[in-house]
Amino acid sequence: MKNIDTLLVKLGRDSLEEFGAVNPPIVRASTILQPTLEAWEDANKPEFTGIKYGRKETQVTNAFQDAMSKLYGCDSCVAVCSGVASISISILSIVSSGDHILVTDSVFGPTRKFCDQVLPQFGISVDYYDPLIGQDIISLMNPDTALIFVESPSSLTFEMQDIPAIVTVAKENDVKVIMDNTWGTALHFNPFDSGVDIVVEAATKYVSGHSDVLMGLILGNGELGRNVYHKAKVMGMCCSPDDLYIALRGLRTLSLRLKQSNENGLAVSKWLQVRPEVKKVFHPALSSDEGHEIWLRDFSGSCGLFSVLLEPLSRAALNAFYNDLKLFGIGASWGGFESLIMPIDISGIRTAVPWVESGHLFRLYTGLEDPLDMIRDLERGFERIEKIDDSHNPRF
Ligand SMILES: *Cc1c(COP(=O)(O)O)cnc(C)c1O
Repeated sequence: MKNIDTLLVKLGRDSLEEFGAVNPPIVRASTILQPTLEAWEDANKPEFTGIKYGRKETQVTNAFQDAMSKLYGCDSCVAVCSGVASISISILSIVSSGDHILVTDSVFGPTRKFCDQVLPQFGISVDYYDPLIGQDIISLMNPDTALIFVESPSSLTFEMQDIPAIVTVAKENDVKVIMDNTWGTALHFNPFDSGVDIVVEAATKYVSGHSDVLMGLILGNGELGRNVYHKAKVMGMCCSPDDLYIALRGLRTLSLRLKQSNENGLAVSKWLQVRPEVKKVFHPALSSDEGHEIWLRDFSGSCGLFSVLLEPLSRAALNAFYNDLKLFGIGASWGGFESLIMPIDISGIRTAVPWVESGHLFRLYTGLEDPLDMIRDLERGFERIEKIDDSHNPRF
């Protein structure tokens, strides 16, 4: 069975095992009691396949992880307490003291923080590279390079990376590649098909899908996958059974929500593109986008997360625009049922390719509201900007 919609319904559950219940049970447990001394000893043998201790797994841990690894068509998945944890744990599982790693300059902000604030403590050096570097990444590698971290598109400015080109160079040099695939999800891009070694995804976003869970996934194959799984467990990573249950429930409707959120995003982004207030829309599925060709070549779909660059605005104009929005909540994260807006300031953050665009940048996430209502909400915002009587506010 390969059809995604069918898989999303069938994966990670076995009703006959659960007395006919459609969904796996939430078993809240730290201790798992063994009936006898022999059973206790058996449970501590490496070949034991049952449930031994709540931190390692419960019924719903196995159900959700199994569903996600089958969806990606890979061998292993470990769920951890946040998307950021999936990134830090996967990196720490692979690198050793003295290693050098290459990270895309467009990487998710907290990933950069982890690389800058934690890795140096272990003698691991980090260089940031131009996200559009492609096979020229070879020029930044040295004999200590152990890992390349990719994220495509990036989650603020949506640069599309040439993943197959980077992976080819990495493989020739025995360097591992980790990809943050939160934007693509298993439905629109499978990094393993391009040879990526480890995939991380913030299940906080589209998978759980209702803005009420934090969770990260680390997926892999073969010995490396097993090793990363094992190390995540050794480092104490786990999720509560309630959160895993909610994530698994979210997964059932992932395809439908993603489709609608994406359609709404395309409608809103196309409307924005021709507005006089808008300098640029960053959305790889738009034919005008610089990454459109790579997106067309590698991805089978897009989602409702994109960014918009406005002409420079005064503080009063920004207040007027943001503070009376009715549908777009001001906040971080995305992938829920509700629309969001988030101002972005990346000036001074990027080192490989400093951000030079002038103007006000914000990120939009289009949820499941009617796209005409979303457009109306933004249109009213633009009208409020127009009304600001302020000499610093350009007139369009
Ligand atoms: C949100 C996000 C994460 C981190 O997820 P959390 O669960 O919030 O820690 C990682 N990568 C990307 C691209 C994200 O958007």
